Amino acid sequence: MQSINPFSGEIISNYPKYSSSEVKNIIRKVDCAFHLWKKTSFKERSIYMNNLQASLLEQKVELADIMIAEMGKVKREAVAEIEKCAHICSFYAENTEEFIKNKAIKTEAYESYICYQPIGTVLAVMPWNFPFWQVFRFLAPALMAGNTGVLKHASNVSGCALAIEQLVYDAGFPENVFRTLLIGSETVKAIIENSLIKAVTLTGSAPAGKSVAATAGSVLKKSVLELGGSDPYLIMEDTDLEVAARLCVTSRLLDAGQSCIGAKRFIIAEQIYDQFKLKFVSLMSQATFGNPLDSQTTIGPLARFDLRNQLHLQVTKSRDLGATILLGGYIPDGPAAFYPPTVLENVMPGMPAYHEELFGPVAVLFRFKTEEEAIQIANDTVFGLGAGIFTADIEKAKVLAEKGLVAGSVFINDFVKSDPRLPFGGIKESGYGRELSELGLREFMNIKTVFVK
Ligand code: NAP
Repeated sequence: MQSINPFSGEIISNYPKYSSSEVKNIIRKVDCAFHLWKKTSFKERSIYMNNLQASLLEQKVELADIMIAEMGKVKREAVAEIEKCAHICSFYAENTEEFIKNKAIKTEAYESYICYQPIGTVLAVMPWNFPFWQVFRFLAPALMAGNTGVLKHASNVSGCALAIEQLVYDAGFPENVFRTLLIGSETVKAIIENSLIKAVTLTGSAPAGKSVAATAGSVLKKSVLELGGSDPYLIMEDTDLEVAARLCVTSRLLDAGQSCIGAKRFIIAEQIYDQFKLKFVSLMSQATFGNPLDSQTTIGPLARFDLRNQLHLQVTKSRDLGATILLGGYIPDGPAAFYPPTVLENVMPGMPAYHEELFGPVAVLFRFKTEEEAIQIANDTVFGLGAGIFTADIEKAKVLAEKGLVAGSVFINDFVKSDPRLPFGGIKESGYGRELSELGLREFMNIKTVFVK
């Protein structure tokens, strides 16, 4: 497997894939570690988790640099990502015991209650776009719950995958409680089928999710899927356009547009369409792409050249079918995998930009006349991850959020963010199950009923 710097185009490192016997051997060791780890107290687990939090903060610049080199994220965002990982460690160190304490249920029994037990080793298949955060939001709750984990990270971020394994080890966790497997996606099926693996979580694209879910289903193992999104944002007539445009552009350009919960489709009331468009395009055009290590750079290169070329194809095919490019829409000269901030309008059903996820800094503007039409456009997608509403009428927005928009999260007057305190996940082809909060913690636990007569 190869890590290639998407800014310079240079090969950073080649990593030989682990052989199938190496993989089996590691899984055996992780399973052995589970049988001891599940007996440890929350207090002991919290000590290691807090050590992990401290090392993340101490090494945040060095860790950010690995991420920047492998996938091109700008420095400010890379450092913030490491800080967010530190936060999730302390969040679960502090709250896990309370989240999964026994819960009494009144029945005719002398005593009846629920207790939560870890299930064993969980496989995490992770993407490159938030190469630390995606892993930590699995790792922190899983280890605090008493499970052990093996990580199959995206093939282009092996340096991040090995750094995470080392961090866990250095924090004092017992050996083999968490291991990285340097493998390609073709090996995932055999790992899920390994009887020592008890469940699988995947964050990635819908095709990868379908493949993993099919294998997990064939051996009746639990799966959690966090897949793609094409998040719609409703911009109502009464909204503060300045604030709405700024927050929408921030969300669209985060991680150079490579965020599952990035705002992607903007559905704008016709009365304010032209005004919003002017502000939105102007803010998008102010974003500068450049060296991700440079503090002036707003967006770095996309993570891989093939992904950049694929995004451009989605844009040009949509243009050829009648969409209008208001900004961007070209491949810049030079060795970096840059794609400029791009804005499209007149996008219709049948065009890639209407139906597909645009995983880069490309925004699509729609116009609506009635609320029903806005909801119809918003929900006319295979995805159901996040959604946003910008309006002054909070009560009406809450009704639309609860009953109108088909999504796992709806944020009103802000963009969708992941937060350890709030459940995170989608419906439809955005996946199933939840990460984060107490709900995410329980996904990989046996919810056991105890009944005493
Ligand atoms: P991807 O190609 O699906 O890869 C994600 C992970 O799955 C990688 O580790 C990849 O391994 C592996 N993989 C790919 N095909 C597989 C298969 N058939 N069987 C088993 N494993 C497989 O996705 P990506 O391009 O890296 O990431 C972008 C996608 O992830 C976008 O759709 C984005 O929206 C989604 N995403 C979702 C969330 C969320 O929380 N909902 C968060 C972030 C990203 P290799 O690298 O070896 O191919």
